[in-house]
Amino acid sequence: MSTRCFYCGKLANSKDHLPSKVLLEKPYPPNLLSIPSCIICNRSFSLDEEYLLNVLVEISDNPNLRRKKDAGGTVYRARERSPGLAKRIMDSFISGENGKIYFRPQAERMKRVIEKIALGLFFYKYGIPIPLSRINCTGFYSISNQNEWPAEIFMLTINSKFRPKRWHVIQKDVFHFIIVKNWMRNNNLSMIVNLHHAIWFTIDIPSPFKLKPSSVSSNQLSLFKHN
Ligand SMILES: [Zn+2]
Repeated sequence: MSTRCFYCGKLANSKDHLPSKVLLEKPYPPNLLSIPSCIICNRSFSLDEEYLLNVLVEISDNPNLRRKKDAGGTVYRARERSPGLAKRIMDSFISGENGKIYFRPQAERMKRVIEKIALGLFFYKYGIPIPLSRINCTGFYSISNQNEWPAEIFMLTINSKFRPKRWHVIQKDVFHFIIVKNWMRNNNLSMIVNLHHAIWFTIDIPSPFKLKPSSVSSNQLSLFKHN
């Protein structure tokens, strides 16, 4: 049986890791999730994934991230290789009033990457493939100090006893996600993705219990593989 691309349905000739390895740290965790994809879809995300890593490096004080900017590091080399990427990052620095410099990343690029990841994680969690149009990243919060939490994320991820809820850990201190009933958004489900304790995304996802069975394609289901 031929394998179909999870994103466009054409013939799959590659696999897309969830999340992309560029967002993880070596050594990579065992049993990384991956979904079949065509090479075109796969490559179409890689620039934006690289951009997101570059953003993380700029906003966080996490030494693991900062080191990537040192000569020879992943981010250093990527910027040398791609002047366009270096320019995109430079353009994200904005001088505000009183001469202060702000870093304002291109939200659309980050949204695209994170929605793709959320789609895969939703499938991993519920076994139901849904189109990208059902996933909507509604915002992100960044904190430069890796020991701090954005207040909104804290509020969404504690239980009634003010204890933190359990996160799914793809890689410790690097990639975590959780699915919560979001009381700030009519109690609909939100996925929260935390990258390197530097940035948190909130993503609207549909309730798996309200999805019509017809929207489930068993063809796609059987193709989800661990590497
Ligand atoms: Zn494709």
